[in-house]
Amino acid sequence: MTKKIVALGGDGIGPEVVNAAIQVLEAMGLYIEILKPLCGEAAIKKFGTPFPKEAMDLTNESDAILFGATEQASVFILAYLRWFLDTYANLRPIKYYEGVPTPIKEPEGINFLIVRENSEGMYPGREGDLSLLAENLPDYKDRLGKSFADYGTGKFAIRIFTNKGCERITKFACEKARERKAKGFPGKVACVTKSNVLKESCGLFQKTCEEVIKNYPELKYEHFYVDDMARRIVRFPKDMDVIVTSNMFGDILSDLAAELMGGLGMAPSACIGDKYAYFEPVHGSAPDIAGRGIANPTASILSSVMMLDYLGMKDRAEELENAVKEIYKEGKVLTPDMGGNSKTSEFTQAIIKKLK
Ligand code: ATP
Repeated sequence: MTKKIVALGGDGIGPEVVNAAIQVLEAMGLYIEILKPLCGEAAIKKFGTPFPKEAMDLTNESDAILFGATEQASVFILAYLRWFLDTYANLRPIKYYEGVPTPIKEPEGINFLIVRENSEGMYPGREGDLSLLAENLPDYKDRLGKSFADYGTGKFAIRIFTNKGCERITKFACEKARERKAKGFPGKVACVTKSNVLKESCGLFQKTCEEVIKNYPELKYEHFYVDDMARRIVRFPKDMDVIVTSNMFGDILSDLAAELMGGLGMAPSACIGDKYAYFEPVHGSAPDIAGRGIANPTASILSSVMMLDYLGMKDRAEELENAVKEIYKEGKVLTPDMGGNSKTSEFTQAIIKKLK
């Protein structure tokens, strides 16, 4: 049966890299229909809103969504995909492809998965004036015995960890580790928190992960503090298998880890919920290079590989990933971020040629 994909390019380099991915997917002759409703700044200009009803209705009926990036004015699109569609599991694979320039000395064999909680924690920002907390929680005392009023004027940000949120994401990570183990990976889940300081919130995340993993006796469990993990990712990248962590820690660790595989131009991601899934590069709108035709579309193309896999088209996903692998191995057609001087369109055509 034909699958319905909705492509939402968004802003900046978003439409450029998503269009490249669409061209590749269309050239593959897949059983998919790709719909391209207007969204982002172009939709603001025409309809006065970044996410018109038509785009939202198509999104709601889609089998999967291919997303680019948004700038502040159209950030609602991202909020909708993430929080309204409840795509709580953000998968960010860190995989080195031969030929890609990277700051790591011996990158061959780097292959791990960051599973980032995508629906709670510090995002979306729940912030306000400290006076609000002082007025509403007059009896609250922190570990230093201070009340909110004692801190004077300022701002606060709230971090939410629910039992349900911690449970479903750690379970998701265990399932992924199990799948990877079946393919020959070590079968290790590293839970990353800062529970020595944030005993309640991170403590719940850690405790839940420890409980959930008991249902997976074949997996090995580890726990690291986030600062230690940042160091380990650089020092021991080949020791990693599956890392599960909360929203903001995952966001930061995955940008760091993306450098191991050559930078933001390479790093794909999937955001998966119980009903919906969207696929987007880890990078944002990169306004500094937008409109110049030099954005690297690899992250968006590899996000499409994840999408094909999610849709059950595993062989086709592998075929597309192999085309990307070959291009980097040859090293002839590279965008400027990879040290080459090819345009987005030339890179895209080179991938299409490989697929034929
Ligand atoms: P956001 O905060 O919106 O998630 P970000 O922190 O991921 O964004 P970007 O603006 O996407 O940051 O990218 C940071 C820099 O990395 C850009 O200025 C750009 O130079 C480079 N970059 C990002 N993506 C690409 C790409 N696909 N191709 C080439 N360079 C890129």
